[in-house]
Amino acid sequence: MEKIKEKEGKPLDFIRQIIAEDLANGKHQKIITRFPPEPNGFLHIGHAKSICLNFGIKEENSGICNLRFDDTNPSKEEAIYVESIKKDVAWLGFDWGDRPFFASDYFSQLYGFAIDLIKKEKAYVCQLSPEQIREYRGTLTEPGRESPYRNRPVAENLELFEGMKNGAFPEGTHVLRAKIDMSSPNLNMRDPVIYRILKTSHHRTGDTWQIYPMYDYTHCLSDMLENITHSLCTLEFEDHRPLYDWILDTLETPCHPRQIEFARLNLTYTVMSKRKIMQLVEGNHVDGWNDPRMVTLSGLRRRGYTAASIQNFIDTIGVGKRDSWIDMTVLENSIRDDLNSSAERRMCVLDPVKVVLDNYPKGQIEELEAKNHPQKPDMGNRLIPFGRELYIERSDFMENPPRKFHRLGPGREVRLRYGYLVQYVSHITDKDTGEIVEIHCTYDPDTRGGSAPDGRKVKGTIHWVSAEKAVPVTVRLYDRLFIVENPEADKSVHFTDQLNSESRITLDGAMAEPCLADLQPGNSVQFERQGYFCADSNDWQDDAPVFNRTVTLRDSWAKRK
Ligand code: ATP
Ligand code: MG
Repeated sequence: MEKIKEKEGKPLDFIRQIIAEDLANGKHQKIITRFPPEPNGFLHIGHAKSICLNFGIKEENSGICNLRFDDTNPSKEEAIYVESIKKDVAWLGFDWGDRPFFASDYFSQLYGFAIDLIKKEKAYVCQLSPEQIREYRGTLTEPGRESPYRNRPVAENLELFEGMKNGAFPEGTHVLRAKIDMSSPNLNMRDPVIYRILKTSHHRTGDTWQIYPMYDYTHCLSDMLENITHSLCTLEFEDHRPLYDWILDTLETPCHPRQIEFARLNLTYTVMSKRKIMQLVEGNHVDGWNDPRMVTLSGLRRRGYTAASIQNFIDTIGVGKRDSWIDMTVLENSIRDDLNSSAERRMCVLDPVKVVLDNYPKGQIEELEAKNHPQKPDMGNRLIPFGRELYIERSDFMENPPRKFHRLGPGREVRLRYGYLVQYVSHITDKDTGEIVEIHCTYDPDTRGGSAPDGRKVKGTIHWVSAEKAVPVTVRLYDRLFIVENPEADKSVHFTDQLNSESRITLDGAMAEPCLADLQPGNSVQFERQGYFCADSNDWQDDAPVFNRTVTLRDSWAKRK
């Protein structure tokens, strides 16, 4: 049969090709996938790749996708992670319906399968210490040695395994191992441990169990019990596939899901593994799991990323079989594109300096009309207050400007966005600090809206706010968390020594258009000429607004390299 390479004109990745063929040739009538997080941390952008793949395949094929918590390690797992994972998957836009499952729901069945393996003489209780087991395992170049306990009679194995379950032995003294092949070239097949004793309470089963199944053993059987058709995982599990298949073949299970591996997402200027992210949190290098500089889904959300931008990003990078690195710019462009079309424009002066219009009537305030989106009239207009005293950006004035500086300076005239043309008169400098404290200008009353009836042109347009009506806001300028592309590449430097010391700059004196105080936490806007910002969902107060910079208007890192 010819390979199915596209669907509805869209090229299919290699996994979707396999699925299309399995449906076309009748191997499966319904596709069932699963997303199997371990509840030992918060989800990150790498998990989003797996979520979009598994749930995406479900949606494209009218299939089913289960959310399964792989909770076999009681010492590292907590219920709060379960809740946050559910929240993140739902936020990304996916629905597991009535199918939230837990590997721990299968503990009894898994125990039964282990007894079946023992009865088939395919599993045994081993009393070697963990160090001995490691030593006996051999290496990639040397075969392993068989455990002296390998050929125990079935009855003795059954009795000992039951003893393990009932708490008869201390931790580390007994394990159940699959009896496969100690000389296999694949180390995973050298009698892997499938059960160990752990006297730890489990977040769902409490103290019911004193033994816990290992990941490899649990995963294939959970997939089987849920009738998963395609078990999609990342490349590091490729060497585990023979074990996945061996367990299901040996138990002669009625359903045998197909494991397919794909390349994990690696993103530059960040670290992705939960362990590393945990170190950043615990070392106080960031403010928690949802710090807006983190690539956790909760961090990205707080930073102002939308679910649509993350889905688009995952779509753009595709699914392949070779490990590769994706440049952070690709992720940043996805949110830039999204916000460019959806975010309303506003004015906010980040580093204000006062401008006084000498010929503007004292005490007068007028309202000027401004577009919410210059390319989208349907997004409407708003009114912004204008008066004699304004703030402009300190960097928009220069005492001795070079010719190419098209903003305000001695002898210059500029346009105030949606306002008037203003002409420089004088400025006042603080004698002690040398800082410019006030700039005096005159405005041309005939230029309301920004154009001169005599047709004269000005080169620059700058943003501004009314000094009297503006609201003070806190603005956090976020940038990449690391200064190097791959913080893990140089093994002689700890990754936390390569943090970008300017990844967060907090501005306390910014002045914003008054309507910005009416936003709700999570709302996004473009500050004209500055970037996209969102109302912080943790720290926002109606009388003390806080904005996070999601992304700049253009990529400023390309220049720095
Ligand atoms: P980490 O390496 O961050 O600890 P993990 O693989 O241990 O992640 P799990 O909770 O076990 O985290 O992962 C759930 C699913 O997400 C798995 O199927 C895993 O393969 C997938 N996944 C994790 N990280 C990535 C990534 N960077 N790219 C694609 N898929 C990923
Ligand atoms: Mg894991």
